[in-house]
Amino acid sequence: SQRTLVLLKPDTVRRGLVGEVLGRFEAKGLRIVAMDQRTIDGEQADQHYAEHVERDFYPPLRAFVTSGPLVALVLEGDEAVEVVRLLNGATDGRKAAPGTIRGDFSLSNRENLVHGSDSPESADREIKLWFPDLP
Ligand code: ATP
Repeated sequence: SQRTLVLLKPDTVRRGLVGEVLGRFEAKGLRIVAMDQRTIDGEQADQHYAEHVERDFYPPLRAFVTSGPLVALVLEGDEAVEVVRLLNGATDGRKAAPGTIRGDFSLSNRENLVHGSDSPESADREIKLWFPDLP
């Protein structure tokens, strides 16, 4: 079994899609190990997106992820990292396959509703960053 860090980004909360999106992860069989709604500052955004801070798209992404409450969660299950990314769909909601979260609910490559760790190593780093006290 494996853990992964998931964010329901501020667009998910603003649009009232938390239940819908969380329901998909639960229905798939992933277990919720930790969950917390919070509003992050720019510094936390920079730490989470350390690999992107120099990119052209980062300043508006930083503004977006700090724009309101998001829901951070740790999900657990067999191959959870890959399973979550398959459920999330391609980064750009316009290109994401129907049936995926982004494919069904997003028309944007920035406001794409969800984040999922991209590898087990990223998951370890991100879980420590978001939930430092989780056993
Ligand atoms: P995430 O890491 O959030 O699960 P991802 O792995 O599909 O998404 P990354 O390439 O890691 O995508 O980009 C991180 C986030 O940055 C994306 O989810 C999206 O919100 C934003 N982003 C990525 N590329 C662009 C872009 N070209 N224009 C605007 N925003 C972008």
